Amino acid sequence: MKKIIFFFTIITAGILTSGYVLQHTGRDAINRVSTTCEDWGFVGHRLLNRYAVFTLPPEMMVFYKKNIEHITEHAVDPDKRRYATKHEAPRHYIDIDHWGEYPYDNIPRRWTPALAKFTDVFLVTTQNDTLQLFGNEVSKMDKYKMILYGEGIQKIFAKDSVIIYNEPYNKFVRTSIEPQVFREDHTLNGEALLELFAHETPQIEVAGAFFEDQLSKYGIIPWHLQAMQRKLTQAFADKNAARILQLSADFGHYVGDAHVPLHTTTNYNGQLTNQLGIHAFWESRVLELFNEEYDTFVGKADYIDYPEDYAWEVILASHVLVDSVLNVEKRLVRDFPKDRQMCFEERLERTIHTQCEEFARVFDQEMNGMVEQRFTAAIHALGSLWYTAWVDAGQPNLNKIGLNKKEKEAQSEEEKELEKAVKGGKIFGRQH
Ligand SMILES: [Zn+2]
Repeated sequence: MKKIIFFFTIITAGILTSGYVLQHTGRDAINRVSTTCEDWGFVGHRLLNRYAVFTLPPEMMVFYKKNIEHITEHAVDPDKRRYATKHEAPRHYIDIDHWGEYPYDNIPRRWTPALAKFTDVFLVTTQNDTLQLFGNEVSKMDKYKMILYGEGIQKIFAKDSVIIYNEPYNKFVRTSIEPQVFREDHTLNGEALLELFAHETPQIEVAGAFFEDQLSKYGIIPWHLQAMQRKLTQAFADKNAARILQLSADFGHYVGDAHVPLHTTTNYNGQLTNQLGIHAFWESRVLELFNEEYDTFVGKADYIDYPEDYAWEVILASHVLVDSVLNVEKRLVRDFPKDRQMCFEERLERTIHTQCEEFARVFDQEMNGMVEQRFTAAIHALGSLWYTAWVDAGQPNLNKIGLNKKEKEAQSEEEKELEKAVKGGKIFGRQH
């Protein structure tokens, strides 16, 4: 309540620009819209994209404000895309604890070395034997080289282990595996693979090869943030208004997800600790109830020197909060009066069963405002990443760019396709 009063005091003091007023009225509109949506997470994503616009410098603000409805509406496109392709879901999370322990130095921070380390690669012999050559379970990697061992290596080279340097293998990964990761066809050139071992003598005749992508199974959000940064920078350099808008909106979605602790753990919905439903409780219910009290004046966007490292900082900052999210909820469910935890609420024509407001309030307070902190951190992060992409592209003049008729038509075609996929009804991969 204090913050709302603070908000209106500022408005009446006349300090605010029209932008901030729009920001506030926008919030009301979004909260109204939300009641028609299936997923409460929609509210957060839409608000996040909208607020981030107000962190931008004037040269960018002109363009983003003109298109603020588009950026707001399309904040949830990536969630819709999960209905269209199985490759979408892993972009929204990482089960980082699957791979080791904090601070997870064993996970390569860049995409190519990460693929090199965690992708299983198999040779198929002319005898039709399948032998594993590369993979996290059959290798040890340091800064410069990999030691490969295991049954496959034994059969291929008649040795317990062989060494391969990272550089030539990374090159192979970049040219042969990377372009195929998100395609159906995972076959590789077996001869080319064996050529990487020029100093060894293979004991088998190779008929073929293929790979199995392990990274996508556990989520790829940090690397996807890096990829989005590169793409958006390119779109600015090309002064391609349609791409800038689409990528900015999408980027907002992934930046939002990256700020949610439960998007960084194997126990993403409390399913391993008997806390099912905690995911939506944290990211949707609490935010939906209390976002109007949040202090969303996060200041100006900052230039980020190393966006690739920054993506990982965000993920790790989310991940260190996982335990406290789970612990607080566990304790509350145990101690809070049982009959006041879940309530029925009317939403338009429907009745829904959800956490009671009072219970959600206590959850929020016990976490010391974590939801607000992560949400406002996400606003600032998103504005800063947009701004960084624009600066890195040479600060192109955005005053004169816009969508021509053909681009607008293409855009609405795409929207229709997406809606069709959603109506088709089945998400590929997990719900969260
Ligand atoms: Zn998502």
